[in-house]
Amino acid sequence: MKDFNTVYCRKAKFTIRAQRRIQFIINRYSVWKIFIFSLKESVCKLYLKESHEINLSKMANKEIEIFREFLRIPSVHPNINYDSCVQFLKKQAESLNLPLKVNFAGDPTKPIVVITFEGSQPELSSIMLNCHMDVVPVDEDKWVHPPFSAHMDEEGRIFARGSQDMKCLGTQYLAVIRELQKSGTKLKRTLHLTFVPDEEIGGKFGMQAFVHTTAFKDLNIGFAIDEGTPEEDDVYKVYFAERTMWHIHFHINGTAGHGSRLLENTAAEKAKYLINKFSELRAREAKKLIDNPDFTDGDVTSINLTRLDGGVQTNVIPSKISLGYDIRIALEVDIPEFEKEIQKWCEEAGGDIEIVFEIKEPVTERTKLDNTNIYWTAFKQGLESMKLKHKARVMAGGTDIQYLRALNIPAIGFSPIINTPVLLHDHNEFLTAEMYLLGIKIWKEILMEVANV
Ligand SMILES: [Zn+2]
Repeated sequence: MKDFNTVYCRKAKFTIRAQRRIQFIINRYSVWKIFIFSLKESVCKLYLKESHEINLSKMANKEIEIFREFLRIPSVHPNINYDSCVQFLKKQAESLNLPLKVNFAGDPTKPIVVITFEGSQPELSSIMLNCHMDVVPVDEDKWVHPPFSAHMDEEGRIFARGSQDMKCLGTQYLAVIRELQKSGTKLKRTLHLTFVPDEEIGGKFGMQAFVHTTAFKDLNIGFAIDEGTPEEDDVYKVYFAERTMWHIHFHINGTAGHGSRLLENTAAEKAKYLINKFSELRAREAKKLIDNPDFTDGDVTSINLTRLDGGVQTNVIPSKISLGYDIRIALEVDIPEFEKEIQKWCEEAGGDIEIVFEIKEPVTERTKLDNTNIYWTAFKQGLESMKLKHKARVMAGGTDIQYLRALNIPAIGFSPIINTPVLLHDHNEFLTAEMYLLGIKIWKEILMEVANV
């Protein structure tokens, strides 16, 4: 496995290094920014089309074909029809002779598919392996190959929306079961493979609702595994928690009047006070990232002003201005105190400010990565038996895993993808056939530990 990695790493690292170098040049010579940017795009496109002498016949195997078939289903937002995904999964379950159930949690157009690989001790709590079926929209003009063609180039790179995020995991879980069946290996605990809709838009009728159904309770989940992120280096990241997300609106009321006057307590002056307070906090958090090289986005609170609405016409001082913020709160923050602080700022700004939460996630427990968590001990054993470097991390964005952690189910986010440019939600998202096949081996080792604990 090490040799395999080394060969692959050299190529992936070259791409990453080349892109970083180009980025450095862009930053340094800002006058040439636009010119160099288009040059960078052309170089990247050229490099992506460049051919290499890897023998693809080895990769053109059944597993790669199954993965590509899943990728070709355009389960892309908005208004996804999930029928083709369900048909694909039914075919997979049939070929593995596994039971499949289609559940709904409040919307008949949003199926939640569960494929079950029963363990030798089905009375034990089970392991959930989750995969979301939906993918984010694409800007087709920016892709070197059509995003739902799952084109595999000469270097074995499979280009498709969803190749990294996260259809790869869904078909890898199925591949592991196929291998276990081939060798007649039984696991102690039951595996439930869940394929859920709408993760990319919050999972309102997907995981968020499913966890409150009897169908979910009947699965008797003891531990859950969901997506992590690809990594550009050679260290696998284990996500044990997520930040708490707030989408918050401030409807600021103030003195209205003629645009020629210097009135007190205007909505704009109050907004300025609030914006300054949030900007100061944002700067402090950004500094933490600079001061601690080991920190990533998941370790600090992010604050972004994302909406700014108000005004009627330019010579009228408006009676109302609204601000919208996307805030992701770091784990160590005392959230009730933080909320009080924000209320205090509103008073200091002059008051008469209405706070409306569009999203106010509850604080969820982090999954313990110590000896008290038998599943983690087993997971770690799997990683260490393969001598894989790994690091615990807090997920910067939000995923479906939060709904499981909210029920106090220990859950880990993990993607067996390293030395790969991170292209989640980006143009030209791809995963190499080698990395995909390596991922199956990694999952197998991990699941042999976790489902036998
Ligand atoms: Zn995802």
